Amino acid sequence: MASLSAFQASKIVIDGSIMEGGGQILRIASALSCLTCQPIMVQNIRAGRSNPGLRPQHLSGLQLVSDLCKGELLGGAVKSSEITFIPSTIQSGRFIADTKTAGSVVLLMQVSLPCMLFASGPTQVTLKGGTNADMAPQIDFTTMVLQPILERFGVSFECDIKRRGYFPKGGGEIQVRTVPVKQLKAVDMTDRGDLVKIHGRAFVAGVLPIKIAQGMANTATSILKQRYPDIPIHIKAVQEASAIGNGCGITVVAETSSSCRLAGSALGKRGVPAENVGKEAAQMLLNNLEHGGCVDEYLQDQLIIFMALAEGTSRVLAGPLTLHTKTAIHIAKKLTQATFKVINDGSETSVIECEGIGLQR
Ligand code: ATP
Repeated sequence: MASLSAFQASKIVIDGSIMEGGGQILRIASALSCLTCQPIMVQNIRAGRSNPGLRPQHLSGLQLVSDLCKGELLGGAVKSSEITFIPSTIQSGRFIADTKTAGSVVLLMQVSLPCMLFASGPTQVTLKGGTNADMAPQIDFTTMVLQPILERFGVSFECDIKRRGYFPKGGGEIQVRTVPVKQLKAVDMTDRGDLVKIHGRAFVAGVLPIKIAQGMANTATSILKQRYPDIPIHIKAVQEASAIGNGCGITVVAETSSSCRLAGSALGKRGVPAENVGKEAAQMLLNNLEHGGCVDEYLQDQLIIFMALAEGTSRVLAGPLTLHTKTAIHIAKKLTQATFKVINDGSETSVIECEGIGLQR
């Protein structure tokens, strides 16, 4: 490994408080740092948040990426407001990350998956924490929406949900397995097609009775049926077989004739009737379908890193761009030579166009 002072001189400095100013900046920056082998320093981490600095989920994610590439992480402690990360070569093999809280395992996957794809061989990560956490993708969003869409980029991975875990206990566990890709393919997702079906999953875990899941599913179904009376809608209600603690929630997914998938989701909270949770998820899906884009408000930002890495020009038709998406683009531009253009014709939708760097293993 080259000397620390040489790395310090060439590192890219990122303001962690810029734009969205959240944990996503750390995830995209550290993953791209690892993939492009450029050292980074992130300052003012989550400075504008009520609990600034690294939270356990962010720290576990950084440590995981560091383990994946035998890198060096300086300043890696809970509450730390500044880190330096010096990446090295991406390894294959088995790795573990544990938030030891209900911090989202899906966000651990968000930071590690792009790196795992460019490892020298098959790689497995075991991720422990919350599987269905607030302000993060539920694991069901990952399997029902992200995974099939990433296949279009040539990304294939297995996601084995060993045990579900929720706020406040955590204790969930997933295993993600990848085989390496040579290069990712650009995608064209500009044709929304027609809505063909809506499906979903409402769950309860622990001591919560199945009728809560049924209440969420029934309410979501009847709201969606009112708007789309001719579309098949099937939302199943399940009692989780393997879970730590109590939790409930719902994910509903719309599929179109051009294989787009858009979602709505919600988590139950103490004192909130099941019907309200079902309504929140259905309303989110309706909002996401209304603008006519090919991705929902969350998938938008999650695709940016894959667009930046892919070979060729990707185009994604999105609804109003979120600050998360704009932030992801900003960080991707800072760490790669990818170029982005947002094309808006005055309507509610924009095409995000990206000439990716065609990273090769
Ligand atoms: P912070 O606590 O600083 O906000 P964080 O790491 O918890 O940091 P963000 O930086 O806000 O989180 O990033 C959240 C990620 O989770 C984004 O990629 C966003 O698209 C995704 N996300 C949030 N809510 C949902 C949802 N309901 N469905 C799917 N994805 C979601």
